[in-house]
Amino acid sequence: MNKGVWVLILALIIGVVMFVGTDTSEPVQAPSSSSESALPEPTIGLIDDARIKAADDEPGNWLAYGRTYDETRFSPLTEINRESVKDLGLAWYKDMGTSRALEATPIVVDGIMFFTTSWSRVYAVDARTGDTLWSYDPEVPGEWARYACCDVVNRGVAVYQGRVYVGSLDGRLIALDAGTGAEIWQVDTLIDRERPYTVTGAPRVANGKVFIGNGGAEYGVRGYVTAYDAASGDQVWRFYTVPGDPSLPFESPEMEMAAKTWKGGEWWKVGGGGTVWNSIVYDPDFNQLYLGVGNGSPWTRVIRSPGGGDNLFLSSIVALDADTGEMNWYYQTTPGDNWDYTAVQDMALADWQIDGESRKVLLQAPKNGFFYMLDRKDGKLLAANPFATVTWATHVDLETGRPVENPDLDYQDKGKWVMPGPLGAHNWQAMSVDVDAGLVYIPAQDNPLFYEMTSEYKASGVYKYKPKGWNTGLEFGRLAQVMLDNIADQPMPKGYLKAFDPATGEDRWVVEIPHYWNGGVLGTEGGLVFQGNALGMFVAYDKATGEKLWEFNTYTSMLAPPISFELDGTQYVSILTGTGGADLFGGEPLPPVAEHASLTYNNYGRLLVFKVGGEAELPVPTVRDRSIPSREVAQLDIGSIARGEAAYNENCAVCHGFLARSGGSIPDLRRMTPETIALWNDIVLEGLWSANGMASFADALTEAQASDVLSYVKARAEEDRLVAGGEKEIPKMTWLTGAGE
Ligand code: CA
Repeated sequence: MNKGVWVLILALIIGVVMFVGTDTSEPVQAPSSSSESALPEPTIGLIDDARIKAADDEPGNWLAYGRTYDETRFSPLTEINRESVKDLGLAWYKDMGTSRALEATPIVVDGIMFFTTSWSRVYAVDARTGDTLWSYDPEVPGEWARYACCDVVNRGVAVYQGRVYVGSLDGRLIALDAGTGAEIWQVDTLIDRERPYTVTGAPRVANGKVFIGNGGAEYGVRGYVTAYDAASGDQVWRFYTVPGDPSLPFESPEMEMAAKTWKGGEWWKVGGGGTVWNSIVYDPDFNQLYLGVGNGSPWTRVIRSPGGGDNLFLSSIVALDADTGEMNWYYQTTPGDNWDYTAVQDMALADWQIDGESRKVLLQAPKNGFFYMLDRKDGKLLAANPFATVTWATHVDLETGRPVENPDLDYQDKGKWVMPGPLGAHNWQAMSVDVDAGLVYIPAQDNPLFYEMTSEYKASGVYKYKPKGWNTGLEFGRLAQVMLDNIADQPMPKGYLKAFDPATGEDRWVVEIPHYWNGGVLGTEGGLVFQGNALGMFVAYDKATGEKLWEFNTYTSMLAPPISFELDGTQYVSILTGTGGADLFGGEPLPPVAEHASLTYNNYGRLLVFKVGGEAELPVPTVRDRSIPSREVAQLDIGSIARGEAAYNENCAVCHGFLARSGGSIPDLRRMTPETIALWNDIVLEGLWSANGMASFADALTEAQASDVLSYVKARAEEDRLVAGGEKEIPKMTWLTGAGE
């Protein structure tokens, strides 16, 4: 490369740094280039297939989502170890200017960290200092937040051949120059922009292609994954995960086969589901791409496919030829999914010793509570052991490969507590695989749901599809009340970190955590397991025993997985803080789960980087004022409150929390000021605050219904004020039964 090009690159970098500033909390879009050919040859972010395949040769970098193509998330670094971890301290931190959930895995290459924050914003920062090199904001329309079941989150970028790839919440795949953040191309990955698709997962890269899926099954979409040419953005192939309208031609032989497993009903109108919103793993050994496929839409199978059937490829692991997108094999974890049991959880690849023989296996702990070990060559089931409390099935039959459902917990006629519930025995929060020890370190939970069909369906056999709303088929409108009515029988929610042997199903050690919704995990050759938890503690455990060796109070709940890297001979461990995700709709937990840190303080979106001897300090936050103002409820109409509860749960609860109790990152409506209440219709029906993510719900709520929701929120606020004052015990909405004031 000649001197002139270097000067040009330097000028570009300096220009962008000056343009962006050193550390803005509000990202600024870097200048974009209209033509690819005008760009200089990339010199930054030069990751390619060979480098990812040989990632163990450069353990100081974190080159891909799960570090290697195996996605085991296990760092070979050892400077931070059982002895030195006691001196681990904060090297630096960076406020990301958001209180929404942060879920990303940073990519670290050659001294630069690339990661995303809320609203699919991308940052490149100096890994030594945290100084922003560039940032990029895809300017997602604020109203798109309404389609995100689990907040405006993003799980990260892929860096490949000098480019940074990000999927935006509103369904675009964008390629940026790794050195400057300049946009090189963007494509619309959505087959139908009228459908409420979202993209929150990190793209994966291999063989000159970028792979991206999407989410939105609850809202009524049809899942698929697309491969794009990494250089040009041209589409290479697309694989649908569920069949479409049977009156139209099948897109592929796989869809013709899958359609035979859907019987009756009109699933294609609701979308069918099967979204691949998290895990896509490339396997260089077989040139295969594994898709982790999500739940059905709606959740309940009797509505989705009244004639029965397995409903392929819901809740499945599907192996494709990475070059053509043709299917090699599939394994379905939950045939005829009836519980929101996605199989989108992280998959890891390994060579595993089984009966003295080395097998090429795929490992996954999906929501349904069984830990699967498959042969990657043909998808043959090798093991399926429960890693948490499982009540929906008694076991998995290794001969047939199918789960044996528990008939006592069929909820078609009568509601039942089932474990796991839709938050899963394990969700997307990453596990770490320790191949040498033959163990996985897994953030697990026991977390039930009371599954009950809608009374409307039970009475009439009719299900009304709600476009752009949640479509579960359950008694969602009354879910909070149904849960409270049955709370005496509720199995207690619990959180764990486990060292688990997937071949035998044995727990090597178990650490119980006082809250269930905890962060991803990193294991290290230094003998440690790192995890950030709901209580705001970033903890290092001895990987042999589970003994806690070190902890650091971040004052913020965590979901994101830690990573480790090395620079100038110093090892670092890094994590993003800020909770949210699918547990938002739970809101404030009912007793006896401990309160999470983001509720006590605030949901501080930060990047934290630790090293031995680090001495930086986080500001100590004040405890949040959570007093609830008194509301005039005497004049509220009981009927309006009851109608408002149903409308609230159908439209508002997934973000603002069941019982109108926010989980901490979205405004708590019980604490609205009189000024906000005065703007109620402007906000709810006119979209006054849509830029912040609060879209108009005018297509879902009439003015009268909006007024009912306000009645409900006021009644809930007043009840909780009385609970807080010790005048009542548990929330019971006594307004509705006439037993209240
Ligand atoms: Ca789901």
